[in-house]
Amino acid sequence: MTAFWTEPDYDDHELVELVRDPHSGLTAIIAVHSTHLGPGAGGTRFWHYAEPKDAMRDALRLSRGMSYKNAMAGLPMGGGKAVILADEDGTKTPDLLAAFGDAVEALGGKYVTAEDVGIGEADMSAVAERTSYVSGLPVEDGQAGGDPGPFTAMGIYLGIKAAVAHKLGKDSVEGVHVAIQGTGSVGGGVARLLAKDGAKLTLSDIDEDRAARIASELGADTVSPDRIMGVACDVFSPNALGAILDDEGIARLDCAIVAGGANNQLARAHHGKVLADRGILYAPDYVINAGGIISVTLEYLCRTEGQPCDINEVRKRIAQIPERLIEIWQESERSDLSPDVVADRMAQERIGRR
Ligand code: NAD
Repeated sequence: MTAFWTEPDYDDHELVELVRDPHSGLTAIIAVHSTHLGPGAGGTRFWHYAEPKDAMRDALRLSRGMSYKNAMAGLPMGGGKAVILADEDGTKTPDLLAAFGDAVEALGGKYVTAEDVGIGEADMSAVAERTSYVSGLPVEDGQAGGDPGPFTAMGIYLGIKAAVAHKLGKDSVEGVHVAIQGTGSVGGGVARLLAKDGAKLTLSDIDEDRAARIASELGADTVSPDRIMGVACDVFSPNALGAILDDEGIARLDCAIVAGGANNQLARAHHGKVLADRGILYAPDYVINAGGIISVTLEYLCRTEGQPCDINEVRKRIAQIPERLIEIWQESERSDLSPDVVADRMAQERIGRR
């Protein structure tokens, strides 16, 4: 049998815990990659995996991504992630969420959870009945926290503007053509912000009604999901799935910039270089999509440490995302390393792994 710690996705994670609770039917994996900068923070994914090893892979990769994301966002948090292995019907009971909350509590603050795919605010509120190591809880207007989607969208909008200035030498996105894959919480928000500035938009979603609704609201075009990556545009903005930037996906791109919110956009590590070799400027996903974690982390620090809860502090920190991207792109040009490699190295330095 191969040793677990020689698996390619294992990156000296500080803790990988398998949680089983026969009473509620809970099976979960909690992975804490690093606590160098603070408690391992990152959401809980509720997903039916074809194979348990896919769940382990997700937990390991996503928790490392959170270490990098939190470090690059300048947050005093490490990186962690939990996955709950849903059954085929996606049964989610109060008992199951309570058992999960107990497991988070038992880690004594090494891991702080929040929402991710398949887990909403109401679920987190249920988890919060069993543990205080939770963020992403409902908040009052004007306070940090709550739904992270709009904050993530804001960071991506600012990041796209920075990329357009850097690559195309334009100080506005007016008339700049952006193709958006996924028009959910993040992609829809990005589309609305860009539309206000007069960008030309092409939208796509597997929920074609959703894309059509937003397109008619904003005066945008739509294309079918299989065509969005080939649209001739200035910016391709992936806001749906991960791993879309593989050999085939990159070959189809007809854009100058890739900048969007989806996590783990590069199918494999070398795809950052494939993009760079095609002359496409890439905004590393975990740098540009940090707006949501900035908001929920400030909410958590407000509740647990009495730090400022003001939404303006969130906005101030999100406004720093473009500076970080520019630093990465400039270093990439100086060093001839692709932006994803530059970002990884910066993040690794910040978490004491270089
Ligand atoms: P969401 O579920 O609100 O929206 C995702 C949208 O993508 C849905 O409308 C879905 O129909 C669509 N979609 C799925 N597959 C598609 C495909 N093949 N082609 C086109 N559209 C497709 O999710 P979200 O919160 O907007 O998150 C979008 C992405 O951003 C995810 O990868 C998520 O992990 C990442 N992300 C989200 C946040 C956040 O704050 N919500 C933060 C960081 C990263």
